[in-house]
Amino acid sequence: MNAIEHIPTVCPCCGCGCGIELVLKNGEIAGVEPLKSHPVCKGKNCLKGKNAYLYANSEERLTTPLIKKNGKHEACSWDEALDWIAQKLSEADRDAVGFINSGKCTNEDLYLIQKFARIVCKTNNLDNASRFCHSTSVPALLSTVGAGVMPTSTPSIEKADCVLIMGANIQETYPLLAQKVIIARTKGAKIITADLRRTPTVKNLTDLHLQIHPGTDAALINGMMKIILDQGLANTDFIEKRTSGFDELKAYLDTLDLQEIEKITGIKTEQMKDAALSYASAHNACIMFNAGIAQHAGGVETIQTLADMALLTGNYGKPGSGVNPLRGHSNGEGFGDMGTVPVFYPGFQKVNEETAGRFASMWDAADLPAKPGLTYMEMVEKCPFLYIMGANPAMSAPDINALRKAFEKKELVIVQDIFMTETAQMADVVLAGACGAEKDGTQTGVDRRVQRLRKAIAPVGDALPDWQILCRLAEKMGAGEHFAFKTSEEIFEEIRNCVPQYRGITYERLEQAGGIQWPCPDEGHPGTETMFVEKFGTPDGLAHFQAAPYKAPLEPPDDAYPYILTTGRLNFHFHTGSMTRRTERLQNEISEAFAEISPQDSENTGIADGEEVILRSRRGEVKTRARVTPDIKAGQVFLPWHFPQCLANILTGPSAGPPSRMPEFKFSAIQIEKVESDGK
Ligand code: SF4
Repeated sequence: MNAIEHIPTVCPCCGCGCGIELVLKNGEIAGVEPLKSHPVCKGKNCLKGKNAYLYANSEERLTTPLIKKNGKHEACSWDEALDWIAQKLSEADRDAVGFINSGKCTNEDLYLIQKFARIVCKTNNLDNASRFCHSTSVPALLSTVGAGVMPTSTPSIEKADCVLIMGANIQETYPLLAQKVIIARTKGAKIITADLRRTPTVKNLTDLHLQIHPGTDAALINGMMKIILDQGLANTDFIEKRTSGFDELKAYLDTLDLQEIEKITGIKTEQMKDAALSYASAHNACIMFNAGIAQHAGGVETIQTLADMALLTGNYGKPGSGVNPLRGHSNGEGFGDMGTVPVFYPGFQKVNEETAGRFASMWDAADLPAKPGLTYMEMVEKCPFLYIMGANPAMSAPDINALRKAFEKKELVIVQDIFMTETAQMADVVLAGACGAEKDGTQTGVDRRVQRLRKAIAPVGDALPDWQILCRLAEKMGAGEHFAFKTSEEIFEEIRNCVPQYRGITYERLEQAGGIQWPCPDEGHPGTETMFVEKFGTPDGLAHFQAAPYKAPLEPPDDAYPYILTTGRLNFHFHTGSMTRRTERLQNEISEAFAEISPQDSENTGIADGEEVILRSRRGEVKTRARVTPDIKAGQVFLPWHFPQCLANILTGPSAGPPSRMPEFKFSAIQIEKVESDGK
């Protein structure tokens, strides 16, 4: 007789954090079912969720550590791999090691890698994939409302009566969050989407589509705010009691000309008015945004304008309102919370002497680093040693040709992952990690929801949970006493002690489906569904308007590179596809890239639907097939970035300066050329 078990856990394929049950037959994952009692998914999962963790069974899983010898990876024992790494890292100078992490790892894994970096390698050189998606959100929202997080809960989006979606294709990339928007719409909410493409989100759940010129969103929002003020729709009571800086914002908006904004954005003033009046007259207006506006050199300014508009209309502190950054990774909130960033210790405690001293005493360790570390691409460029846990920069970073050259010069590249990713192929040592179905832990989804991941099966082969690998390596490097953890729960207990926002959360309390939203200051606290109800996260408790002018892109199109490339995701794949491309049903849906071009560009260039094309930027070129569609405007090209055969990020390049250092993934100047039938 077959023994069937159901193990409740969390979907690993996006930040929505839906509950799933892994169905085990005779100890193996045989299927996935949605968790009925879960507040986010309520008994539904999208296609990715329905296939979650089936990649655990893939024959391509890494089962042992590997060391590169004579250009080839060879299997070795854990002792051999870790001894070798320990010897090399012991010889490294202070700040010579860079740690790159992923939101696919658990909070416990992430907490330990930052502790390892700070105690063992004495460095704050720590960064993660959020550098490539929300490094603009955090400074923008810190400077306005005091916290770069989603202030509401996913379920409460159903209560919004106007939703403004900026640069986010939620139906494909956050399907269950999109369900909440659909429910709000059936109750009468108006849905407005600003996006340069007619995405499935635009076609299926949008009432007003603002098909904006790429990268001009700040100009649009400033225009909408000017209209709101001119129409007398500002919430003066909220502005007086809860904000500062309004006069400066008003003075700036007074200088703007709507006709000029129409030219910059391509949005007619009448449409802008429709959007502004719908947003400002709603009782509960919600803004959500993602990479479409965040991955720009002017991303910080754009997100500041969004916060300004929510403050101008009093749309903070109510369920289903506020400005909500949508983080893509399943633990996309956790890597910031755990301090795997160069400027914060865990709990967003700023890197400085005082914080380093406080952590030295909590960890009983000496000489912790007190100066900000290097950011993601700075580490790729400057650190001779790289330790990469769960991340795949050989697909996700900009200008991959430059990254490959930088990797060739490294003294040591260590990659810890569950598959031989494109980055692992370049590594000197590859450490076989356990996947999320093979370990216990927690993850924190898009709405600050901390949830339990549960071990359902044993790790494949000799693979180990990331946190166990780090504990063993620390022991070999003489720091074992700081890493003497036997279970993930013991690590979480230390996290609670160091991260004030998590203090009241325990594994026992996380037994309830749907977890707990931080901040949760004590064990009697239910968690926080809506932030900023009475005061903001700033030192004075007030929100601060920031007049933020539109900033032009770094690499505008010109005669040599006349098209604008934008990159993005598709509904069947997640991030660099390392998991979903190894999930048969998802890979069968779509297995290769395509370049969307407009019918007008098809006519002008003679490139027909399905024909092979070369896309070329100043940094390199890729080959793919054209998909001709009226969903994109002339002069623009869309390319998904999940597929290694067509690495979209070979084409992308320049990064903004501080504070974000965001690569401009959504705007690169390119050429497009038909591949002639002889292959040239
Ligand atoms: Fe998983 Fe996201 Fe789909 Fe929910 S919406 S099932 S978290 S991929």
